[in-house]
Amino acid sequence: MNEFELIRTHFQRDPLDPSVVLGVGDDAAIVSQLSDYETVISVDSVVAGRHVPQICPPDGFAARLLGRGLSDLAAMGADPKYVLLSLTLPTFEPGWVDHFADRFHKLCVRFGLDLVGGDTSRGPLSAHITVIGHVPKGSAISRSGLRSGDDLWVFGSDLGGARAYLDVLDGLESNHEVWAERYWRPEPQLVAGLSLRGMASAMIDISDGLCQDLFHLLDNSVGSATVKLQSNLIPFCDDLVDRFGLEKALEYALTGGDDYCLLASIPPGLEVPGCGRRIGMVVKGESARILLDGKPLPSKWQLGWDHSR
Ligand code: ADP
Ligand code: MG
Repeated sequence: MNEFELIRTHFQRDPLDPSVVLGVGDDAAIVSQLSDYETVISVDSVVAGRHVPQICPPDGFAARLLGRGLSDLAAMGADPKYVLLSLTLPTFEPGWVDHFADRFHKLCVRFGLDLVGGDTSRGPLSAHITVIGHVPKGSAISRSGLRSGDDLWVFGSDLGGARAYLDVLDGLESNHEVWAERYWRPEPQLVAGLSLRGMASAMIDISDGLCQDLFHLLDNSVGSATVKLQSNLIPFCDDLVDRFGLEKALEYALTGGDDYCLLASIPPGLEVPGCGRRIGMVVKGESARILLDGKPLPSKWQLGWDHSR
């Protein structure tokens, strides 16, 4: 199959939304703009052998790719609209790509996303997606704005499962269905993101590890601030504590990454959406900026995923 047949077969679909004036097939896509809205844009990559195993199931690759990208829109409180896909495949022969495209389109339908363009080439397996969403003017939620007095909340399933699954991939642990699910099919918290507009003072999605991502909120806080986390409020993924013990379970949940939950600071007294869990509070700045049960984080913890590593 050549490049053009592959694009036509797998990636050209009728648009879902009438705002798509011209989708896949021309030199560029055209979408019409709504007045009173702002456009929110983010790009993400998934490289086999780096972000996922070298040999990689197509549906998991698609779900992780879109989950990661859409999680960034969720973290801004944005509504997803369009996606561009740049895909590098080892072969254009049918098989892997059929399953990949099938899952990709199903997820697009589910999240109301139109695939409006992309690029396809041959090479080691990797993909980049650009996701585009919108928000009513001025209502996007940024990383800036956390302040003392806020509570700290997590929105999403639970924490640490994707990190535990890395131990499964490394042959250190026996397989675990829920951990595999968290790793391969992260659930972007779009509904929670939308409902936190006008409520969260700051927000980020947990991609690199809760503590590392929390430092980004602290770096952009209004006045210096310290976050007090409570270990008894941390939503651990299934069997994390049973398999690893509390100390390591905490390390995985607070530094592991790939959770794609939302981490938001919210002033007290607001009616927070039901799926949220309060995990701590923000107080006036002190020297240690994240405290766990009143103590500094263990010094041996690697605080999160470092992409240069
Ligand atoms: P050009 O050479 O002008 O970049 P291409 O031949 O690469 O155009 O792509 C043809 C059309 O197919 C364009 O509309 C492009 O956006 C789209 N396209 C290519 N690859 C993909 C893909 N993986 N997913 C979605 N659209 C794609
Ligand atoms: Mg091209």
